[in-house]
Amino acid sequence: MTEHTITVAGVAVDTRHRIGGERVASAETFTDVSPIDGSTLGEISRGTPTEAAAAVAAAKAAFPGWAATPRAERARILHAIADGVEKRLEELAIVETNDNGALLRSHRRGVMPRVAHNFRFFADWLRTLDHEDFQTRGHTNHVSWDPAGPCVLITPWNAPLMLATWKVAPALAAGNTVILKPAEWSPLTASLLADIAAEAGLPAGVLNVVQGYGSEIGDALTSHPDVRRISFTGSVPTAKRIAASAASNLTPLSLELGGKSPLLVFADADLDLAVDLAVEQYDNAGQVCLAGTRLLVEESITEEFTRRFVEKATALKQGDPRDEATDIGPNIHPRQLEKIDGFVQRAIAAGARAVIGGHCKDGQYYAPTLLTDVAQDSEIVQEEVFGPVLTLQTFADEDEAVRLANDTRFGLAATVATGDPERADRVTSQLVAGTVWVNCFFVRDLQAPFGGSRLSGVGREGGTWSFDFYCDVKNTVTAPNGWNNHG
Ligand code: NAD
Repeated sequence: MTEHTITVAGVAVDTRHRIGGERVASAETFTDVSPIDGSTLGEISRGTPTEAAAAVAAAKAAFPGWAATPRAERARILHAIADGVEKRLEELAIVETNDNGALLRSHRRGVMPRVAHNFRFFADWLRTLDHEDFQTRGHTNHVSWDPAGPCVLITPWNAPLMLATWKVAPALAAGNTVILKPAEWSPLTASLLADIAAEAGLPAGVLNVVQGYGSEIGDALTSHPDVRRISFTGSVPTAKRIAASAASNLTPLSLELGGKSPLLVFADADLDLAVDLAVEQYDNAGQVCLAGTRLLVEESITEEFTRRFVEKATALKQGDPRDEATDIGPNIHPRQLEKIDGFVQRAIAAGARAVIGGHCKDGQYYAPTLLTDVAQDSEIVQEEVFGPVLTLQTFADEDEAVRLANDTRFGLAATVATGDPERADRVTSQLVAGTVWVNCFFVRDLQAPFGGSRLSGVGREGGTWSFDFYCDVKNTVTAPNGWNNHG
């Protein structure tokens, strides 16, 4: 324990950056607040461009050694990190819940096991990349997946460790070194991850963590000429700034951004299932990029759908996310609540009706909200709210359903509830989205491509797609008998 250690729910967390295997403090700090009750969790080192540059330098220095480490050894260390995550699962779960307000039961049973799986999966997936050499007029083509170099990974607060490790694990598995910049509203589990990785034997400088405000250290990271990849998950406005900054070196970017995804409910759907899927969109207090926040329901079943939806949604228990019985926790920050309520009140002023919710409850808890009488071109239908706010619109037929579904600037995900497999094929083939679910939601296999179309993102991650991004893929062509016959 040092003066830089805070204790969160009994767990010691170092508040300093981790750079080149050392803990480094900044002169200034920022205050990390729990969304559960607004209490102060601690003062966190507030990075400056100096620390950002030091982290890139450390990642650059560590790169040749890590890149040259045999794949099997890299994989062994990644599995050891997964072991460490599993060993400290309860601690990670409780710290994350205190830091970002998402449900403890989800962290325990879903999210943190998935964090460990991220490391195991990408460690093992490396093996699938090797293909047989192939011949071109007697010449041998050999494709190799070479490490690219230092990678800057910038992540949001809604699922901090889960989203960070989707990036950290494949980047490290590929042989790259990393500078991770967690969100300032939820920096704590990234610090714990740095400890776990060091204990697992990851060499110094391979995983660096720099904390602070994106507006203060973002540019120093994303415009740095020694950075070979930038992977960002967050909002569209930030993505545009990062893309502009990365343009100075043409650094390759992967962007996982926001959404305004539709959930289409056809009259032939299993109505109970469709209602369950719709209510699920309030998960994590609506702070889920993939959330199907636009309910599009066939006219003939709208009344019955709405009745059942209201019954289920109003039975959700909102409150302390540490309580196992809670279904919906708080929203992350007073600023986020203000933003959510601003969207809702402007929608109501423009003629929308709140079927349920439409207001903040006590503290940082926004009541699950359903708005009807909303115009397709209105702000509430077109813009991401990132809170527990759904809109309901109706459609007369399949064509109208698809037209409404595709009519935003986003294209992250879509969900279709129908009992007709042919309709499912017809509709899904027309939807613009990186992921489409039919009669299910949130099933995500790490070997599947993940990403968004239109403003929802650039590129895909997951399975081989992650290694496409994090590697310099090289083809080596060797002449027959070592001679070049100009073939
Ligand atoms: P945000 O864009 O405000 O911040 C994300 C991260 O970017 C933070 O770490 C922040 O500090 C950093 N940042 C801010 N300015 C920066 C700059 N100029 N340069 C570099 N970094 C900078 O997003 P948020 O509010 O933290 O997250 C919510 C958004 O993330 C929503 O739009 C949500 O849909 C999206 N999201 C997308 C996915 C996905 O996989 N597609 C997943 C989760 C969240």
